[in-house]
Amino acid sequence: MTRILHRQIDANLRTASGGKGVELFDQDGRGYIDASGGAAVSCLGHGHPDVVAALHAQADKLAYAHTSFFTSEVAEALAERLVADAPAGLDYIYFVSGGSEAVEAALKMARQYFVETGQPQRAKIIARRQSYHGNTLGALATGGNEWRRAQFKPLLAETHHIDPCYAYRYQEPGESETEYGTRSAQALEDKILELGPETVMAFVAEPVVGATAGAVPAVAGYFRRIREICDRYGVLLILDEVMCGMGRTGTLHACEQDGVAPDLMTVAKGLGGGYQPIGATFLAGRIYEAFANGSGLFQHGHTYICHPMACAAALAVQEVVARDRLLDNVKAMGAHLSRRLGERFGNHPHVGDVRGRGLFMGVELVEDRGTKAPFDPARKLNARIKREAMNRGLAVYPAGGTIDGSRGDHILLAPPFIIDAATVDTVVERLGEAVDAAIAQVA
Ligand code: PMP
Repeated sequence: MTRILHRQIDANLRTASGGKGVELFDQDGRGYIDASGGAAVSCLGHGHPDVVAALHAQADKLAYAHTSFFTSEVAEALAERLVADAPAGLDYIYFVSGGSEAVEAALKMARQYFVETGQPQRAKIIARRQSYHGNTLGALATGGNEWRRAQFKPLLAETHHIDPCYAYRYQEPGESETEYGTRSAQALEDKILELGPETVMAFVAEPVVGATAGAVPAVAGYFRRIREICDRYGVLLILDEVMCGMGRTGTLHACEQDGVAPDLMTVAKGLGGGYQPIGATFLAGRIYEAFANGSGLFQHGHTYICHPMACAAALAVQEVVARDRLLDNVKAMGAHLSRRLGERFGNHPHVGDVRGRGLFMGVELVEDRGTKAPFDPARKLNARIKREAMNRGLAVYPAGGTIDGSRGDHILLAPPFIIDAATVDTVVERLGEAVDAAIAQVA
């Protein structure tokens, strides 16, 4: 019995009573491999002693000071560290409490930038279908997950959506990757021209689509072309790395692998690894300067921005990731996971695609491999897989929303960066059994 309104109303929800390394334990002491790190959050796993010690020390020193009066040593140290390793030009940062807040801040920074620089007519946002940018109203308006948006549509600001770069779904037979990347990016230029370039404020995209499509990276060249188009029309490029960033794909920022630097970039989940709620928006120097030389104020704010406990958690997590060279393990274990998933599901009659980067992998389920038709959403395949996996001691993130409004089924894998090869093997073995058991119920 729970008095809490959880996201999913489920009378049998288990209680997480503890966690150590890659495992979570329920109230009966049963272990679950945390193979999606919650929702790509727990990059260091659970109970990391260095992070726990840093949190104790920060609590002893200073838990909270409002940013109207003070900055803090720990927030400044975290900012220095993150900006030093940021994509080129992202010289400033704004700390918030999660991903949606980071996206809201990015949207408002983009808008205020154009107001401050004498282009107040720029207010339109272009984003992509099958994307997720958060659940607050601005972020939800930006995202293209129809299932999440549907009932709230009357409350959402107008946003313009183009197709994502999603090769499995949209690359034409006979079309090369380069041709597809160029065609896919062209949709942005077409949309900008349709709306009127002088009215467009920003293009928002996840470098690797997470919650809505299950770890879908763009094809090579796509984001370089997107960057060129944004530059040509003076549109700001906002990359949402809330899920795919902070090392998850094997480089600190996913966009490094696409060879582009955005004007604004959001991060969250892996930033604090779940030890505290924290997110951040990186901004280009010219946006900061527009505020500094203009009104002298970013007209935004929350009570808990730059929270010292949250910054201490993030600083400790990032120090461990660097000190223990964990991105090398993300690359090595990512390659191992990809190989194992390919062996297990490569010829599976109901797995259409296995894709991803680093320790951020997606498995897309289809009723028919030939037509790529998803299972009827009413059969709730991804919820069944989640339940079957939990019964086998495996926590994986089921996702939905493959094609336009429909709810296709995916599984997202995003295990802690500390995972080893034997545990990866166990994850794939349990996942294979869970998928087969769930499909047997619906096929
Ligand atoms: N952007 C992306 C890409 C995300 O994956 C998420 C969370 N799944 C968010 C934004 C929203 O983050 P939060 O849930 O922390 O508000």
